[in-house]
Amino acid sequence: QGSLVCVGPGMVLGAHMSERCRNHISQADVVFSSCHPVIEQWISTMNPDVRSLQGLYGKDKDRGQTYAEMQAALIQAVRDGCRVVGVFYGHPGVFAQVPHAAIQQAREEGFEAWMEPGISADACLYADMGIDPGAFGCQSFETSQFMFYKRAIDPTAYLILWQLGHAGDLSMTPRQTGPEQRTVLMNMLLEYYAPDHNIAIYESPFLPTQRPKIDWFPLQELPDADVSLISTLVVPPGKKLTPNHAIVKQLKSISGA
Ligand code: SAH
Repeated sequence: QGSLVCVGPGMVLGAHMSERCRNHISQADVVFSSCHPVIEQWISTMNPDVRSLQGLYGKDKDRGQTYAEMQAALIQAVRDGCRVVGVFYGHPGVFAQVPHAAIQQAREEGFEAWMEPGISADACLYADMGIDPGAFGCQSFETSQFMFYKRAIDPTAYLILWQLGHAGDLSMTPRQTGPEQRTVLMNMLLEYYAPDHNIAIYESPFLPTQRPKIDWFPLQELPDADVSLISTLVVPPGKKLTPNHAIVKQLKSISGA
């Protein structure tokens, strides 16, 4: 009977993989992986049949098409009766469509399917940048979705924008967008934050010997920022919290204070 488990090895080579993730990989009949090549090499030492899904990306190919093909590859192996493990870098369920969709499809077809959590880019970000998402609250958006739809930002909380490298990409290819698209993004953010508000680009390393990249710069320099496909944008709160006196008064009357 086929089954599917989606796991995540975390961000840093040899440092973040949970015991359960490692066990699933070593006990699988077939392992599909979508990770940094260095991580894929490491995973290959744990199971004789590790197949990279990275080859399904194409320079001008629609990313949605690539995701559909990844999902189909996982499902076909499950139907063939294999214990299938999908390895997706970081946390397999964080800003990753394929694991969620494949698990749902496998379950609909009557197979056992589930996810194991991993250490995601934002988990590393909180540690490396010393940010507690609970201090002021924290909003996460996929940058292009944030741009394509009308969303509201709470500028008293942290804002994390993922996939900055694809910001405003209407073509949906794996290529990076540039200063023009980031200018549009900057103008959207200027409705909430001052031009000199300091923001940061964060990149966690893949190797334990590398340091994280944390580049601070004012919002007005976003178009010319040094952005890659692993960049995550961090915008600290730009406004102070406003006390909600009416609610506090209600609560006081309940507690009799
Ligand atoms: N599943 C992954 C995220 C995949 S989506 C996870 O658990 O983190 C890809 C986005 O994640 C990138 O565009 C970027 O915003 C973020 N990301 C991926 N690798 C990163 C890294 N090394 N450092 C910082 N952010 C990263």
